[in-house]
Amino acid sequence: MQISLDIPIFQDSLEVMEVLEEAGYEAYFVGGCVRDALLNRPIHDVDIATSALPYEVKDLFPVTIDVGIEHGTVLVRHKGQSYEITTFRSEGDYKDHRRPDSVTFVRDLREDLLRRDFTINALAVDRKGRVVDYYDGLGDLKRSCIRCVGRPIERFEEDALRLLRAVRFQSQLDFTIEASTLDAMREKAKSLSYVSVERLTNEWHKTLLSKHYQQALNTFMSTGLYQACPLMKELKSAILHLIKNPIFFVDEADAWTTILYLAQLDSSYTTQLQKSYKLSNKLVNGIKHRLKALRALQDGEWTIWDIYQYGDSFKWVIPLAKQLLPEFHHESAIDMYQNLPIHSKKDMAITGNDLLKAGYRGAEIGNFLDRLERAIVIDKIMNDFESGMDWIARNNRDGGNSKL
Ligand code: ATP
Ligand code: MG
Repeated sequence: MQISLDIPIFQDSLEVMEVLEEAGYEAYFVGGCVRDALLNRPIHDVDIATSALPYEVKDLFPVTIDVGIEHGTVLVRHKGQSYEITTFRSEGDYKDHRRPDSVTFVRDLREDLLRRDFTINALAVDRKGRVVDYYDGLGDLKRSCIRCVGRPIERFEEDALRLLRAVRFQSQLDFTIEASTLDAMREKAKSLSYVSVERLTNEWHKTLLSKHYQQALNTFMSTGLYQACPLMKELKSAILHLIKNPIFFVDEADAWTTILYLAQLDSSYTTQLQKSYKLSNKLVNGIKHRLKALRALQDGEWTIWDIYQYGDSFKWVIPLAKQLLPEFHHESAIDMYQNLPIHSKKDMAITGNDLLKAGYRGAEIGNFLDRLERAIVIDKIMNDFESGMDWIARNNRDGGNSKL
């Protein structure tokens, strides 16, 4: 079987592969890029595997960086671009269900492909576009099937992350999981708890953000994988709801907001969530704001000032609210948001500098700006220089703490 390498991301790498081959080594595209090329899916990066040992790769290229040399990966700089080149390797025993105790460099592509997780990820392509397929990855691609290379139980025992990778690929590719692989997932589900949180969260997020997460979440629940993930007992009802009524998520914050909302948990729960899944502060703040905005919309207890304050979160939450709150009259809220005279302090016609120039001093500047901001949003004071200055002067005369 032959595939076309006529896309820039492959073409760019051919020269580097030629250098390796001319020196007497083998070089192949491997892994996700081959799978995605065969499926006509976008390719985001290419992995190159070679029979050359890391020091032999380094001898061939003037500029290299040892990004993961103990695992055989060298970053090669060539004509202003970077290429990750990994020596064929086989893996030693796995004692902790997450990483091999040792890796051994080998000269044989077949052995390198044997250590890979699924047959669809164990395909290679040479620089002429010829596909190398030792484990019937092509057949499984045709059948839309996720199947372990070798004996599933052993493969999941070696590295428990593969359990969740199967789920993630199901979500991304809309594939089914082959029966003996699925049985082994059920049997080994508990060992997912050996996986580091960072790797787990990464796969979990990819699962939620991919198109076919309904089937994937179904596998996640029915195999019992969910029981090995933090906090899933509390979140179970939400996941079951999503399997029946999928909601489209733009990003991770959207997904978590929806899950917490459906599980009827409030934003104080994000502290536990952050700890258990090692979520970034930025993500957790996003979840908190969106959850708050969503709740306010649900209760119908929002004012124009709320809408202004939710700002970006409000924009994010509208598509979610449309899906989660069918009775919600989003038009009026969207209209209100779009018709706001300003959308943030940055839009105000008057700045602190203007007030300084006009002779105001110290804390009163911030105080006046805050109050003018509210006046523009709530009382529809015109957002231009004259009206603003006039309003401040009037309120200053009143002693600065009138009605607002
Ligand atoms: P993505 O589109 O997410 O990059 P990918 O298949 O390229 O998908 P990577 O995590 O980039 O996934 O890994 C590259 C390749 O390395 C895989 O295609 C697979 O062959 C192999 N691989 C990655 N993780 C594992 C693992 N945990 N066990 C076995 N093989 C793995
Ligand atoms: Mg990849």
